[in-house]
Amino acid sequence: MDVFGLLGNPVGHSLSPPMHEAAYEELDLDARYVTFEPAPENLGRALDGAAALGVAGLNVTIPFKQAVLDHVEPDPLAARIGAVNTVDFSTTPPTGANTDAVGAVRALRHHDVALEGTAVVVGAGGAGRAVAFGLADEDISVRVVNRTVDRAESLAADLREGGFEASAHGLDALDGCLADASLLVNCTSVGMETDETPVPEPTLHSDLVVMDAVYAPLETRLLREAAAAGATTVDGGWMLLYQGVEAFERWTGEPAPVETMARALRVRL
Ligand code: NAP
Repeated sequence: MDVFGLLGNPVGHSLSPPMHEAAYEELDLDARYVTFEPAPENLGRALDGAAALGVAGLNVTIPFKQAVLDHVEPDPLAARIGAVNTVDFSTTPPTGANTDAVGAVRALRHHDVALEGTAVVVGAGGAGRAVAFGLADEDISVRVVNRTVDRAESLAADLREGGFEASAHGLDALDGCLADASLLVNCTSVGMETDETPVPEPTLHSDLVVMDAVYAPLETRLLREAAAAGATTVDGGWMLLYQGVEAFERWTGEPAPVETMARALRVRL
């Protein structure tokens, strides 16, 4: 039996176990997906233990996404993002990927969004870095907008260092940044469990595709107002789904049963 899992603290409410186990069942794979909650100071020992026990793969979430870089060989994209959320133990040392980046891109592809032009990424934390690099890798020019402008500047500088086109702005520049943009992705936590939005309603327009990384609730205020402005919307459940799909495919080498995984996720969101 192959053992996969999620390493984080806390991980009690994670939707990854039912999403991955639905895929194993659908494809008749002899595999289980379990959660592990080590104390932060035990991360290295937990990863060594997982490797020694023959664990096949682990997803990694808060608070370990950055710290895990000290224990695995990141692929180039994960190294540039500075965070890993998927570890593959089939190699020595284990390799690390960031499937949030590819997951965001695949979520947009699922909705037939043209991956071109200029994107505004609001937020420069973990999700913002992953989404910005994922979009930049598709040759999309990225405007990073963040409450703390220093963090936006640091992310934009990292993007430019990677050879990508990027600029940095404060929240007060959103209007100008969005005017000629084709894509907006909210990567802040604003809107999570509250009816708030980081993007003023009048800046939204019908030529935009608006994706929210926030998935609780699925219909955030931002997406509600974007839809009212005539924009195309993509909720955060799609990014959550496709980061899992991408991890599944990297671990098993098989195409993921996307609809089965989506169903397992949607009934719980
Ligand atoms: P994080 O690293 O803590 O970053 C939080 C970001 O939100 C920062 O850019 C922060 O700005 C900004 N922010 C927080 N409060 C704000 C406020 N009141 N006004 C304006 N900006 C504010 O968090 P994260 O890991 O990137 O996660 C962000 C969100 O994405 C969470 O809701 C998370 O659940 C979601 N997410 C979803 C997926 C998915 O698969 N759908 C994957 C990853 C994350 P400052 O830099 O100024 O503090």
